[in-house]
Amino acid sequence: MTSTTTTTDPAVGDARHRLPAETRGRRVPERTIFEKSTTGARAIEYPRLDVEESAVPAELTTSGTDWPELSQLQVIRHYHHLSQRNFSIDGEFYPLGSCTMKYNPRINEWAAARPGLASLHPLQDDDDIQGALELLFRTRRMLEEISGLDEASLQPAAGAHGEYTALKVMRAYFADHGQAQRDVVLAPDTAHGTNPASCAMCGAGVVNVKTVDGYTDIDDLRRLIDEHGAENIAGLMITNPNTAGLFDSKIIETAEIIHKAGGLIYLDGANMNAILGKALPRDFGVDVMHYNVHKTFSTPHGCGGPGGGPIVVRDFLAPYLPVPQVIHDEANDRYALKHDIPKSIGKVRSFITQFGIMVRCWTYIASCGPDGLRNIAETAVINANYIASRLRHRYEMPYFRPEAGAYAAHEFITVPRSLLDRGVKLDDIAKRLIDYGIHPPTMHWPVINCLMVEPTDTEPRNVLDRFVDVMLKIADEIEGDIETVQQAPHDAPTRRIDVVGSDRKPRLVSDL
Ligand SMILES: *Cc1c(COP(=O)(O)O)cnc(C)c1O
Repeated sequence: MTSTTTTTDPAVGDARHRLPAETRGRRVPERTIFEKSTTGARAIEYPRLDVEESAVPAELTTSGTDWPELSQLQVIRHYHHLSQRNFSIDGEFYPLGSCTMKYNPRINEWAAARPGLASLHPLQDDDDIQGALELLFRTRRMLEEISGLDEASLQPAAGAHGEYTALKVMRAYFADHGQAQRDVVLAPDTAHGTNPASCAMCGAGVVNVKTVDGYTDIDDLRRLIDEHGAENIAGLMITNPNTAGLFDSKIIETAEIIHKAGGLIYLDGANMNAILGKALPRDFGVDVMHYNVHKTFSTPHGCGGPGGGPIVVRDFLAPYLPVPQVIHDEANDRYALKHDIPKSIGKVRSFITQFGIMVRCWTYIASCGPDGLRNIAETAVINANYIASRLRHRYEMPYFRPEAGAYAAHEFITVPRSLLDRGVKLDDIAKRLIDYGIHPPTMHWPVINCLMVEPTDTEPRNVLDRFVDVMLKIADEIEGDIETVQQAPHDAPTRRIDVVGSDRKPRLVSDL
């Protein structure tokens, strides 16, 4: 800690490191749960044994591990402290681009916790779970309607899993139509890393299409189709609005080119928050897409799951969707899981779907209604444009050019060239935001040295204003007191960690 700021601007508030040194990091528990152990302490009382006592089989017992012994209060305190050290949307502003870190309304949790839904067993008979199946069927219908496409599968457990499932469906369709050779998938060079990864998992090669000013380069697309042969093109994976925060105005022309080659349009639906109720993917040429329900439909987000990545397809792809499919037999007004689908690609996960997540998804969509969904898209887009407009004079924005009609969709990218030229790194700006209690935006993607800011629809105006004020304050700091920014964060539980190393070689028992 080399310096302290003297922030007094009430709009910006205090940076945390202005706290006196002795109070810094007070929330940090110094000892591990093992060190907090008190011999003989117990967190729960077991009910009195009501069966005959017998010895635990040796193979079920362990030895050589000193499990911690703690009272209930100690356990609660331990996890409470840990939770305070997590950054979450419930705590602070979280403008992580492309991730749609919006508020998760608590009514979703209430619905998912109803005993009639939470206590079901996945092997129960269809007749016993008619209500649950109806909920899944209605969720299916909502997702179909929002996309304008024909049939949804609720099976995939995340966006990436949806991509994988959809590519399998596309492949099954081509194989069934004597076109098994179609194995080239095109994707703009700004695609999310999961797009090429999913292609690789399915044995398809991915070919990058150039982008110009953030948009797919149509000439390059045509050239690549010629180069690889139209008869080998499986399709184009495209994110729209894209990761540069732009709605691709050439998407219809792009789709026509792909369709003419005999390929399919796959929409990465991660950015659906920007177009809910405003544009139907079907209308801009989409044949198959995934949703990220943990982004667009406010189900819990993070830590690798549980999430949800349902896919929706046009009718000619529907016979290949995974089994089981939830259906409604109208003649008997009965809901059922259909397992006998001859051309199905089979299962992509256990049982039916991530059920509790689909309950939350249904609850969210049902509680918003069509007008609410439209309002979400409008607010998300206005919020992004508001911040971008206020920041653009200090933070250069290559794709946000209102004078040229290029507004942001629901997020925007800044490459703060003039600040970087003063000697800070993008990391420094991101770390300094942590001192002000703001989660850094997405970094270095889709272009190097960019910050991708997505405020979402759930933030009030004063939070947006504070973010802008903090960003402008950091720009001032870079110009006046650059070291403060370069040394940030000054009061986080950890300072600059080795992000790659911590992923590859995690130390699960910490000595923090
Ligand atoms: C988040 C995201 C994905 C991957 O979704 P997961 O649910 O994290 O697997 C794919 N594409 C884009 C553009 C995304 O933002």
